[in-house]
Amino acid sequence: MEGLSTILNAAKQIPETLKKLGKAEMADTVLNVTQAAYDQMSENIGLKSELGDAKAALRDREDEIKKLKDLNELKANLRFENDCYWDKQGHALCSACLEKPIDPAAVRMHTGDRSNGYVICPLCKNGTWSKGSRPQRMMTY
Ligand SMILES: [Zn+2]
Repeated sequence: MEGLSTILNAAKQIPETLKKLGKAEMADTVLNVTQAAYDQMSENIGLKSELGDAKAALRDREDEIKKLKDLNELKANLRFENDCYWDKQGHALCSACLEKPIDPAAVRMHTGDRSNGYVICPLCKNGTWSKGSRPQRMMTY
């Protein structure tokens, strides 16, 4: 905006000179045109800023869409069993985290140090049996 102020101040000298020469009507016209140009330039600067914000918001949306597409592609290659998603290498992924409606994520389940087949999501603490089907009786630790 400082550049605009410099231009406006320089342009104001023209009407002052015209007034001194007795051309008051022409001075008013130059002043009005100068003001209109200044207003238009100010509006353009504001629009340029809004465009930058809109572009950033669009990039965020595109990133979010890509992330969801990647998760859907991953999910299509997983098998669901024992309340977990399983990849082809036999790793369990948390179904609660993968199916969250907001900000879903592929989180690998952890076995912990007392593991007898029970795995826990390190993020949401969802737990399930990783080996075979659920035992008939829950084991006490
Ligand atoms: Zn989880």
